Amino acid sequence: MKTYLSEIFSSIQGEGPYVGERHLFVRFCACHRKCVYCDTNTELSDCCIVEKTPGTGEFEQIKNPMSVEQVADLIREVDAKTRNNRISITGGAPLLQSRFLLKLLPVLKAEGHNIYLEAAGDLPKELKSVIEFIDVVAMDIKLASVTEEKATFPAHWEFLKLCRDYNVEVFIKLVLSANTNEGELIEAAKGIKKAGGEDTLVVIQPMTKAEKTDAVPSGQQLFRWQDKVASVLPNVRVIPQTHKMLEML
Ligand code: SF4
Repeated sequence: MKTYLSEIFSSIQGEGPYVGERHLFVRFCACHRKCVYCDTNTELSDCCIVEKTPGTGEFEQIKNPMSVEQVADLIREVDAKTRNNRISITGGAPLLQSRFLLKLLPVLKAEGHNIYLEAAGDLPKELKSVIEFIDVVAMDIKLASVTEEKATFPAHWEFLKLCRDYNVEVFIKLVLSANTNEGELIEAAKGIKKAGGEDTLVVIQPMTKAEKTDAVPSGQQLFRWQDKVASVLPNVRVIPQTHKMLEML
């Protein structure tokens, strides 16, 4: 079994409550969504770029598609050079490759790694197939007013409920732009409470300026929306993408 990866590298986790930890990122190609603020190349690329020595900016190109053993070997090689707290499985949409993950993740777990999944949070069937190998889920809940795509709340609620049912640590990432619809935001907060419980951690991530949009939210908007979400879910933080401030991978 083979897959398409775009990048393997070690860096600082720049988002969410684990910000500042050292993670080894394994970035999968392809995505089923088209968020207007997307900062990732989601095309299938011919090669995966691997920064074998972190921070050098020197990348080796490895031809795609890659086998489970090839990917596991590259992870071992990069991990041997630095102490990573977790392996961050990211994309694109890594759950589109759930059959590949079903082979790779048991190998990584057997070697003692903590698996951190970053996902759009709308592919519950695929999550279920690999959930036993996941330690932390960083779950995006997408607002149509922000992504400029159709709403996908029912899939999000199913996904979140699965994390709770299987007792997997989960937090919600809500990317908000200046165009955020407040009614939709409240609906999301209520849905999170119902599917995940009142103690669910919500991280509001202010949208970073991207190629197709500069609708960055103002401080005033963020204060207002944090208060609105907190009226439903008390555990809500505002955390920007810190790795972008440092111009890191
Ligand atoms: S889900 Fe993530 S990778 Fe896919 S289009 Fe949206 S921001 Fe980009």
